[in-house]
Amino acid sequence: MDTRLCSRVGGLSCPSKIKIALWKFINQFVPTKLCLSNKRIANDTHSPRCHVANEDVSHVLRHCAFARNVWLAFHYGCPSNDVRMSFKDWLSWMFDRHPVRKRLEIAVILWALWNARNTLYHEGVIQGARDVVTFVHGYCSEL
Ligand SMILES: [Zn+2]
Repeated sequence: MDTRLCSRVGGLSCPSKIKIALWKFINQFVPTKLCLSNKRIANDTHSPRCHVANEDVSHVLRHCAFARNVWLAFHYGCPSNDVRMSFKDWLSWMFDRHPVRKRLEIAVILWALWNARNTLYHEGVIQGARDVVTFVHGYCSEL
């Protein structure tokens, strides 16, 4: 991964589990349904939340309506060529435009979105965007 983004992730003052999660997102080392399908572990590639799009890292963390609602609640803008950007390029873009404290919040949002996805996928528990927003505010205030 590019060294600038790498050092920014490494420099976040958050638990290492969050940094590891970011590293996995950047390197596509997470078991999204598209990833599982590519490895012939799953047949269905659709997002377990919206059932419309293929589930890859960018869909779970950025493009799914659920993720968009969370980002909107935090008033983050997105790049003009958002749809075509890789997750890595998007995260670089976000980190370039925000100070350290905001980068920390961005990291926690991404981690919380992935956890919400796993809770839905593995336990069938549906969280609302509000639940994620409330969690992120609470978590960040304790960091
Ligand atoms: Zn979706």
